[in-house]
Amino acid sequence: MKMLDHFSKYDYEQLVLCQDQTSGLKAIIAIHNTTLGPALGGARMWNYASDEDAILDALRLARGMTYKAAAAGLNLGGGKAVIINSPQSKSEQLFRAFGRYVESLNGRYITAEDVGTSVQDMEYVRMETRYVTGVSNGSGDPSPATALGVWYGMKAMAQEAYGSDSLEGKVVAVQGIGHVGYYLCKHVAKEGGKLIVTDINPEAIKRVTGEIVAEVVKPEEIYGVGCHIFAPSALGAVVNDITLQQLKCDIIAGAANNVLEDERHGELLMQKGILYAPDFVINAGGLINVADELQGYNKERAYKKIEMIYTNIKKLLAISKERQIPTNIAANLMAEERMEKLGRIRNIYLNK
Ligand code: NAD
Repeated sequence: MKMLDHFSKYDYEQLVLCQDQTSGLKAIIAIHNTTLGPALGGARMWNYASDEDAILDALRLARGMTYKAAAAGLNLGGGKAVIINSPQSKSEQLFRAFGRYVESLNGRYITAEDVGTSVQDMEYVRMETRYVTGVSNGSGDPSPATALGVWYGMKAMAQEAYGSDSLEGKVVAVQGIGHVGYYLCKHVAKEGGKLIVTDINPEAIKRVTGEIVAEVVKPEEIYGVGCHIFAPSALGAVVNDITLQQLKCDIIAGAANNVLEDERHGELLMQKGILYAPDFVINAGGLINVADELQGYNKERAYKKIEMIYTNIKKLLAISKERQIPTNIAANLMAEERMEKLGRIRNIYLNK
């Protein structure tokens, strides 16, 4: 029942349960909202503890995609799929069966790779449906695009806090220097920013410090380092009751999803005078990049669109200031207002 309560509380459009016993496919496709366009969201493959957990995960992730696409200015809605199998049970048959379910939705949902799925898996899906992005010869690894967007967002935040968007001389503390963090460090260093980095993986540290000057600290030390900008780019829930006491930064702007453990931490950051760049707005570069595939991928055009993250951050900061609300709430409003305005024009009747 918890799941159906969630379904009606957040006004989902559709939930599809897919089963094909010959291939072993058991999957959920959740479509949250298609006001702005087809629901785009990756297909995650995971061995969930229960089917209910899988459904709730699909629902939550689909809703997150609605807000991310709307705030990014894309004409896309929010959806997500989860395939309830361990990644060890992958087969051509399974992904083609999944592709047939995606095709049966006639473009209301467009899938892509996600945690536990790969470009090769999406190639199998593509054999059964055109409604798939992230295949080979497409936009490729989204991390450089995500990092570029985070860098633009960071600059917009610096403009707000310091009156200049230059990161020259600014101390940026990056938590997690994996796929996105690595490219982010390169942007910051190129502009003359000073880096403090951490990671639990020594290889990731070696890769960054082999190319860039950066001070390395232990993972548990990163929250307390004195810096201008803290860039969480590893895990979620890193702004919580404990870390709030340790943070010594002016700005939080990073790639990680679900940075705030709870929405109320946005309010607490505001009270502390720390400017927070909402995760789904600042880390939308990868989504903007993959969405460009729908028009036939053009890297130059996609990367140009990623620049919009700068403007989007400025917009939500203005909403936050004008209405005296935390930036995470302003970001939700920005997305909801766009859906409401454009949803209304879609009611104009066209006789054709
Ligand atoms: P990744 O796995 O390549 O990198 C994460 C890094 O964080 C790894 O090097 C890992 O060792 C490190 N890490 C893990 N736990 C840590 C800890 N406790 N302290 C310090 N370091 C730790 O992942 P990624 O693709 O770079 O994504 C980073 C974050 O950005 C994730 O939260 C992801 O959801 C989010 N994100 C990524 C993209 C993308 O395009 N890849 C897009 C949007 C959001």
